[in-house]
Amino acid sequence: MVDIECQAEIKLRRDLVRFGKLLYRQGFMPGTSGNLSVRLDDQRLLVTPTGVSKFMLRPADLVVVDLQGRQLEGSRKVTSEVSMHLAVYHYRDDIGAVIHSHPPIATAFACAGRGLEDMLCQEAVMTLGAVPLAKYAITGTLEVAASLAPFIPDHDAILMANHGAVTYGDTLLNAFQKMETVEHLAHIALVAHQLGDPRILKQEEIKQLRDAKTRYMLNATIG
Ligand SMILES: [Zn+2]
Repeated sequence: MVDIECQAEIKLRRDLVRFGKLLYRQGFMPGTSGNLSVRLDDQRLLVTPTGVSKFMLRPADLVVVDLQGRQLEGSRKVTSEVSMHLAVYHYRDDIGAVIHSHPPIATAFACAGRGLEDMLCQEAVMTLGAVPLAKYAITGTLEVAASLAPFIPDHDAILMANHGAVTYGDTLLNAFQKMETVEHLAHIALVAHQLGDPRILKQEEIKQLRDAKTRYMLNATIG
């Protein structure tokens, strides 16, 4: 049993490092910015340390914390932004992984005081729905968790004013794909506004797409 748990942790450590590199390569985590976490079990999280490039990160650099953020294992110090991860796990039992990064276009929206709430393209409705903007909070403080809390139950992606974005899912892959999608939707919104007079989807069209998504999800479950 211990062996199985050990193998599972080794795999999660490798996965976390792999997705950190992918996010770095996407330009979402320049310098030492950004952080990732994953649930190890119902009491513990595996989290990236502070001050390490996600391009250079090794499995042994990761730290283990409890659900209050107290460090249990690891020679490095846990990220200063751990409170946002704790808030997501606190409000969402279904979440297994959290990613925080600074994707440039989505972060620019957050700096302009804008969320991604207008449904401009079908993909937005079919994937994340509205991505709200959480109010300004100083990084590394408990204010960050408080600013995100109202949105966590009903959203899987949130922009953070003058800061960046946070996404989460059942797995690291799922959280990563949501972060990619946030930046993609921000890029589309930027260009649509640059072109001028973007057509926002109508309520009826949004409803049709949501129905199509429900049918698709049902088929995916059955099939
Ligand atoms: Zn940050």
